[in-house]
Amino acid sequence: MALERTLSIIKPDAVAKNVVGEIYARFEKAGLKVVAAKMKHLSRKEAEGFYAVHRERPFFNALVEFMISGPVMIQALQGENAILKNRELMGATNPKDAAPGTIRADFADSIDANAVHGSDAAETAAVEIAYFFAATEVFPR
Ligand code: GDP
Ligand code: MG
Repeated sequence: MALERTLSIIKPDAVAKNVVGEIYARFEKAGLKVVAAKMKHLSRKEAEGFYAVHRERPFFNALVEFMISGPVMIQALQGENAILKNRELMGATNPKDAAPGTIRADFADSIDANAVHGSDAAETAAVEIAYFFAATEVFPR
């Protein structure tokens, strides 16, 4: 088992639904600790930069528009196997395919408005955490 950190975003749809606390409770019950957090309304540039890997995908513009449609809650989570554990808590990208009891099955409405983001690998987790947080904003420092 490896102690890992991962980047999580509660997307505009879930913030608007007022389920930030319910989603945090799932992280905590699974042994994931919030080690950094901020609420932010992303600029277009920030959202495009964050999702740069998807720039050539047909859904890129819709994804960016959605991500800037309202404030998001951004957090770094720490725990044993945090990256995979968070992906399991999230469920499949399309909520129609997400297993019962996952965040996306319970709170997401569509593949666009799918409630949460989570890093998919150690390399992307490090890059994504550094995209939103200075080293001094992740605890313990
Ligand atoms: P994730 O890691 O499960 O969030 O999925 P991806 O990294 O593949 O895609 C990033 C985000 O783009 C997803 O969370 C969706 O919001 C959106 N997305 C991915 N695939 C599609 C698609 O086929 N159509 C649409 N409209 N959006 C998509
Ligand atoms: Mg992804």
